[in-house]
Order: sequence, then structure tokens, then C-alpha cells
Amino acid sequence: MNSNISNIGSSASRPLRPSHAGTMHPRTWVIASGRRLEPGEPLNAPIVPASNFVLGAHRAYSRDDGTPTWEALEEVMGGLEGGQAVAFSSGMGAISAVFDQLGVGARVVIPTDCYPGVVALTERGVKQRGWQLTRIPAAATEVWVSNAAIADLLWLESPTNPLLHVSDVPAICAAPRKSGTLVAVDNTLATPLNQRPLACGADLVVHSVTKYIGGHSDLLGGVVVAGREDLFRQMVAAREVGGATPGALEAFLAARGARTLALRLEASQANAIEIARRLERARGVERVRYPGLASDPHHELAARTLKGFGALISFDVAGGAAVADRVCQTVKLVRHATSLGAVESTMERRAAVPGQDHLPPGLLRLSVGCEHVEDIWKDLEQTIGVSSLR
Ligand code: PLP
Repeated sequence: MNSNISNIGSSASRPLRPSHAGTMHPRTWVIASGRRLEPGEPLNAPIVPASNFVLGAHRAYSRDDGTPTWEALEEVMGGLEGGQAVAFSSGMGAISAVFDQLGVGARVVIPTDCYPGVVALTERGVKQRGWQLTRIPAAATEVWVSNAAIADLLWLESPTNPLLHVSDVPAICAAPRKSGTLVAVDNTLATPLNQRPLACGADLVVHSVTKYIGGHSDLLGGVVVAGREDLFRQMVAAREVGGATPGALEAFLAARGARTLALRLEASQANAIEIARRLERARGVERVRYPGLASDPHHELAARTLKGFGALISFDVAGGAAVADRVCQTVKLVRHATSLGAVESTMERRAAVPGQDHLPPGLLRLSVGCEHVEDIWKDLEQTIGVSSLR
């Protein structure tokens, strides 16, 4: 076993793989990458449930040296984002690896609306490690830019979960920084098909692979993609020390899910824009939050920074929590379930989630799936509150 402390962080035995999708279209890359093409080999990197390897080659112990299954996923994700990927057990495992780089007293900036796991992690950092935490509205570009000069970590999420606020990622990444300031972007909602932060100058990108990359609600996974060699090595070291290693089956399923990412996103995004437009005209709906709508305050920024508007919609029903809960109980095709980014549409009243009671009580977060749009709409229409057009 290769996990003694002097080995941690060295990663000397870990071969680096090509980190760019080259000239391939991302739609081709997700299908063509992460495969070993020697004669007689399976077309898909197999599930390798190994901790231990026969000594003498570049792999000794999977937590330190990876597995062929993890590496297939890492190759797909690294190429998509244009960096070197490290796979983790979950999105939060990946996020924790990034925040673990911060020392005592670090200055951390996160968006006002942000995935709650990140809020919990940073609040713990404030209590236990004396971090100075600043929360900035995602679209307040000038405030982000001025913080780049003083912060240790700018943490962006664009669009945000669940309010779908958008940041000017290129402008913030280009801002002059204090030496050593890291810019990291949670690209889970946009996916690398809609936004590639490393190309804008971000240092690190993270994904909850659980969502659009996996795409089938059947795994937990995460990935960090590093834009620099030293950061890549730090992420490998963070996984070695933190131990948030992906499962063999989960990594296999995530790479398999990624094969159809472009097709799924195309279908769910097309559904989302249509559903958002219809919701906007529905009598029981007070407000629709979707950056693809011209009426959305984040539309201009989204149109400028994203290739597509994504497949997540948040909308507020008239009548607040009671009506929103009834809608969740009444839908049939749309599943009443948390999480997002899968082939099936899911919906949840977010203020009902512990720690989320600051959100509007009637806000429903709808992850639009790949079903036929008329079936999704029929299901929404028959529910109380979205029953008729204005
Ligand atoms: N980032 C975003 C934007 C998310 O929505 C989530 C989960 O919902 C996470 C990170 C955490 O990912 P995981 O649940 O895979 O740990």
C-alpha cells in the first residue's frame, strides 16, 4: 500500500492524461473519450472494483493512484472543461477538496444565492477556521471584481441553485487578483456544454456529477477540473488525504451517462424554454425564474455568458406553501423528488428543505427532463395553480 504520509501529494506514479478535447466537438468528445482502444479490449472502460494492485507498475493503491474506471470519467470531464479532472465520491466531496486548500483566516466570497451545502461548509469554516465570509449577489460584477483584489477564494455558481441568478464569469475571471487568489466555479447547472470557466481564466471548476453528467438519478459523484498542473496535484492530494474516492460502479455509470450529455441537455433545454414560456402565462403562477426568458432580470447576462439557458426553472405559485405543496402532491409524470439534472422531470418546494426557509414559500424548483414537452405540460396544467392561461 502506498498511503504513507510522504507519498501523499506526490502523485509521482500517476500518469497524466491528455487534458484537451482537441479539435473534437464536445458532442463527439463525450462519446469518443475515456476509452481504451487496443484490440480485444472492451469498448467501455470496465468497472474495476480494486483497492489494491500488484506492485511494480504505476498503480499500487486506488485512493492514491486511481483506477482505470475513474480515469475514464476524468478523461471525459477534463476534455470537456479543458483541464485535468479528479473524480470524487460526490459533488460535496469535490467542493470540500477545493475549500480544504484554504488556511485559517482566509477570505472567502460566495454568491448570495448558492447551493446550501456550500453555505454550510463556509459557515463551518467561519466558526472553526476563522474564515472571513462575504456573500455577494451573483450579478453584482463590480463587487466581485473588487473582491478579487482582496479575497483568497472567489466561489462562483452560475446559474445558481435554486434562484437561477447568473454571474459574468468571464469578467470576474479576468479581474486583477491578489497573488494566490483562486477563482473556482461550480458549473453543475450550466454544464461544460453551456459554459467553460477555465477558458475564461478560472482556476478550478467543480461538478456534482450526480446531476447532468450522470443524468439518471442513479449515482452520487463529483469532479474537480483544474486549469493548472499544481492545482491538479493538490486535488489528487486532497482526495488521497480526504478519502472521498468515487465508487467503481458510480464512476462507470457517470462516464456512461456523459455519453448522452449533449443529447439530453439539448432535449431538456428545449423543453425548459417552452415550459418556462407557458408558466409565465399561467394564471396560478406569480413569477417564473428562468434566465432564458427575455423578462428574467438575468437574461442579458445569461445570453452573453452561456451557450444555453439550462433545464432548471424555479417558479412561484400564487397561494404560497399550501398550494405549492398541493402541486407537488398532484403531479404524476413530474416526480416529487429533490435533486435535478436527470432524464426524468422532478419538482420540489425548496423552502420545505431544512435550512432553506429564507426562500419564497411558494417557490417550486422544476428540473425539466427529456420527456415529451406536451406530456410535461399536461401534468403541470392538471395541477392546482397552473390550471389555466392568463
Ligand atoms: N453543487 C450544486 C449546484 C448542486 O446542486 C449540488 C447538489 O444538489 C451540489 C453541488 C452537491 O452535489 P452532491 O449532492 O453530488 O454532493
